[in-house]
Amino acid sequence: MNQKSFNLFEMAQSQFDRVADILDLDAAARELLRNPLREYHVSIPVRMDDGSSKVFRGYRVQHNDARGPGKGGIRFHPHETVDTVRALSMWMTWKCSVADIPLGGAKGGVICDPHHLSLREQEQICRGWVRQLAKDVGPLIDVPAPDIMTNAQHMLWMLDEFEVIHGAKYPGFITGKPVGMGGSLGRKEATGYGVIYTVREALKELGIKLENTTASVQGFGNVAQFAIQLFQQYGGNVICVSCWDQKDQTSYSFKKKDGVDLDALLKITDQFGGIDKNKAKDLGYEVLDAEAWIHQEVDVLIPAALENQVSATNVSKIAKSVKLIAEGANGPTTPEADEAIKQRKIFVIPDFLANAGGVVCSYFEQVQCNMNYFWEKDEVLEKLDTKMTSAFKAVSELAGKRKLYMRDAAYVIAVNRVVQACKDRGWI
Ligand code: NAD
Repeated sequence: MNQKSFNLFEMAQSQFDRVADILDLDAAARELLRNPLREYHVSIPVRMDDGSSKVFRGYRVQHNDARGPGKGGIRFHPHETVDTVRALSMWMTWKCSVADIPLGGAKGGVICDPHHLSLREQEQICRGWVRQLAKDVGPLIDVPAPDIMTNAQHMLWMLDEFEVIHGAKYPGFITGKPVGMGGSLGRKEATGYGVIYTVREALKELGIKLENTTASVQGFGNVAQFAIQLFQQYGGNVICVSCWDQKDQTSYSFKKKDGVDLDALLKITDQFGGIDKNKAKDLGYEVLDAEAWIHQEVDVLIPAALENQVSATNVSKIAKSVKLIAEGANGPTTPEADEAIKQRKIFVIPDFLANAGGVVCSYFEQVQCNMNYFWEKDEVLEKLDTKMTSAFKAVSELAGKRKLYMRDAAYVIAVNRVVQACKDRGWI
C-alpha cells in the first residue's frame, strides 16, 4: 500500500474526527461517515495497439449519497490508489454539502498513465471502466466528471458506452462534456469565478473595498486565470502570479507592481498554465523565485496551484498586509501552517468552500442535461454567484456566531447536513 495515499485517507478521517468532536456526534454517525458507503474495484482488460493484452485496475468509491446521487471526478494516474480515491470521495461529500447542492460524494480512478497510451487505448480504458460499473453509476446513482488527466473527450466516450449498454440517451450520466454535446457554458470560468465571488463577500465583511485591494496568486492554470479575470473586472489589482516551468523543473513568480496584464500573459502561456519566462521579462515582469508569490505585500493571497504549498517552512513569510487567503487549490495549506494562520487571525476561505464553483456548475450541467434545455452563459454564472454567495454567508455567519475558524465552520455545516440527511432517512 502506498504510504502517501494511505496518509491522505487518514488525513481525511482525522479532519472528520475533529469535526465529529465539535459536533459531539454519536458512535454510529462517526462509524458511517469515517468510511465510504461502498466501493468498487474493477479490472479493465484492454487490447493494446501492439496486439498484446493489458489489464488496468480501476475504482469507484461512493462515500455518501444521503443527500443525493454521488458526484466526483475520475482520475487517470500511474500512482492512483484506492486510499487516494477514498479520501477524495469523502472531501466531495463535504464540498457538495457545504455548497448545498443535492449530491453526495464519490470519486473514481484508473491506474494508468495517458502520456504512454494512444487515444485508442485511452478510449478502451474509458469504455472498459463503464462496462464494469454501468449498473453502479448513473444519473440517479452516481455522476462522474473529469479530473486529473481526464478530459471532455474521455467523458464523451464514457457517456457513449453507458448509453449503448442502457439502450437510451442519458446525457445527465456524466458531466464535463464538450459544450454542444451536453456540456454547460460557464464551466471553464466556474471554479475561478466562484473563488472570487467568495473573496468579494469576505472583503465586504472585513469592511474592505475590493477595488482598493491587491492580490498575489499561486498558479496560472484554469482556476487562477479566471480568478484573476474576475478579480480585475471587479477593480482589484493582481500584482504577482506564479507557475511551474517544465523546462527548468522549478516554479517562478512573475511580478508587476502596477498589476499583471492577463491577456498579454495568456499569449505567452502554454496549455498547462506555464508562462514563458524570457517573454515575460521582455514584457517587463520581474521574474522571482518560486516562493516570492507568498511574500508579497498584498491584501489577498490565492493559492490556486496544488496541495501543501503553504507550509510550516514558508507560512511566516506571509506579509503583515495579508488579510484574506482564498484557497483556490485543493489542500494548499498544511495543518501546521493552518494553525499559524489561525493564530494570526487571517481570514481564510477554505478550499472546499472557495473552489466549490466547479462542482456547482457540474450540477448545473446535469440539471440542464436532464431537462434537455441549456441556459445562456450569463444565466449559469448568475446562478453560480447566488449559490456561492449563500454558501459563503452560511459559513461565515456560523463562524461569527460560534466563534469558529472559517475552516471549522465550513466543516461543521457540511458534516451536519450529511448527518441530518442520514438521520432523516433512518440510517442512523
Ligand atoms: P491547472 O493544471 O489548469 O493549473 C495548475 C497551475 O499550477 C499551472 O499554472 C501550473 O504551472 C501551476 N503549478 C504547478 N505546480 C506549481 C508549483 N510548484 N508552483 C507554482 N505553480 C505551480 O489546474 P487547475 O484546474 O487550475 O487546478 C488548480 C488547483 O485547483 C488544483 O489543486 C485542483 O485540484 C483545484 N481545483 C480545480 C478545479 C477546476 O475546476 N479546475 C476545481 C476544484 C479544485
